[in-house]
Amino acid sequence: MTVAVVLFTSDLRLHDHPPLRAALAAADEVVPLFVRDPGVHAAGFDAPNRTAFLADCLGDLDGSLRRRGGRLVLRTGPVSREVAALAAECGADEVHVAAGVTRYAHRREELLRKALGDRGVALHVHDAVITAVAPGSVTPSGNDHYSVFTPYFRRWSTQRLRDVHPAPRTVRVPDGVRGEPLPSHEEVSGISPALPAGGEAEGRDRFARWAREDLSAYEDRHDDMAGDATSRLSPFLHFGALSPVELVERARKHGGPGAEAFVRQLCWRDFHHQVLAARPEASVQDYRTRHDRWRTGAEASKDVAAWREGRTGYPVVDAAMRQLRHEGWMHNRARLLVASFLTKTLYVDWRIGARHFLDLLVDGDVTNNQLNWQWVAGTGTDTRPHRVLNPVVQGKRFDPYGAYVRRWVPELRDVPPARVHEPWRLPEDERARLNYPQPLIDLGDGLARFKHARGRD
Ligand SMILES: Cc1cc2nc3c(=O)[nH]c(=O)nc-3n(C[C@H](O)[C@H](O)[C@H](O)COP(=O)(O)OP(=O)(O)OC[C@H]3O[C@@H](n4cnc5c(N)ncnc54)[C@H](O)[C@@H]3O)c2cc1C
Repeated sequence: MTVAVVLFTSDLRLHDHPPLRAALAAADEVVPLFVRDPGVHAAGFDAPNRTAFLADCLGDLDGSLRRRGGRLVLRTGPVSREVAALAAECGADEVHVAAGVTRYAHRREELLRKALGDRGVALHVHDAVITAVAPGSVTPSGNDHYSVFTPYFRRWSTQRLRDVHPAPRTVRVPDGVRGEPLPSHEEVSGISPALPAGGEAEGRDRFARWAREDLSAYEDRHDDMAGDATSRLSPFLHFGALSPVELVERARKHGGPGAEAFVRQLCWRDFHHQVLAARPEASVQDYRTRHDRWRTGAEASKDVAAWREGRTGYPVVDAAMRQLRHEGWMHNRARLLVASFLTKTLYVDWRIGARHFLDLLVDGDVTNNQLNWQWVAGTGTDTRPHRVLNPVVQGKRFDPYGAYVRRWVPELRDVPPARVHEPWRLPEDERARLNYPQPLIDLGDGLARFKHARGRD
């Protein structure tokens, strides 16, 4: 009887899962394993919102495996130690895992290779599980990754994707493998009140519904903050409850400008992954330094606190920050605005904003979060690194009736659309009744400071 272990990481699904498929083809019995690594906690990456969503994903995966005759085995401890111990316990001679791109994933792979190699167990690392196109599989001449999105997108679009695999029909797990009880969403404290439910089944339903109702209009509506018409699939993609290869295939089959625009966004995800795979240090260091001397000290801390709380006095910024706290999610246009406001208007280090996002975002992802923050801060891959988004202009453009602001900032509920993005223009007595802060900073002053800091004045 041959046995293989499949180590699930950021790929918590049964559909289109190359490591599981390979393990099932190679061995008579398979142990589907998830390891809760205290290292993730030590690094501060297990924020409550993601812990709760993860619990849903693990529960769903276990249920799907049980319907196929198997189950999910959960262990807690350093990953390489747990995998090696389990392989020894059940006599496995191979372990399958998806390739990752973060520093943590590289280190995990290195430690696994060593721990398993010492025992003569083969480690198989599978590409194109977490991304649609494997990082590093398309490169420009003379570089190990693309640093500009558009040429990457052009090449990426011509790549032949691997076949999409169905979920297996049966999974046989060896008898007597010890596992721990799975965590439950309800045990997690400190989660956002409107946190979405996780799991592969939930993700597949959501995609099917959204593709039916909103995909065709995605190109026109993806920036409409109040319309909320984007897919909200990001947490499912973050935990791998959905396969990016399958989503690209299904969107392409659907066709039309909406589907093309959606596929382009999925390519952004791959783009950031191939940057981080080549430059893992970009999760903490400037990808391209602009020699910033970010503000620090008491004044800056006060500004950061107002930004975090959604009390900057700029309605669209405040709405977005409150949405983040309430849902553990924020609209992409809003993410761009609040990140520009923090890094450029307030001239605060992108790492401080990225940390706050990671503390709350249910899709909080080292790759997409850190590199998007760097993109906005102008230390990343944006080809226009010094542009500054004006929250009033952007608010009027992407929330023209103020519906997004009014949804999240109840103090402004009765302000007419013409003034909702500039409440300071209301007559003095009306403004005084709002209990809403005055702007934290004059936008002109913020712009001048930023231009000066970047040597562009
Ligand atoms: C400052 C900042 C921080 C961000 N942090 C994260 C993060 O931690 N995790 C995360 O998944 N996304 C992050 N994003 C990217 C983007 O905002 C979210 O992926 C998107 O808002 C999720 O909503 P959706 O699923 O409805 O997206 P849709 O518009 O429906 O897009 C479909 C999918 O494409 C991918 N995608 C879309 N835009 C981007 C992008 N700019 N970069 C990478 N992938 C993208 C996502 O996986 C998304 O689910 C960040 C963006 C900014 C500006």
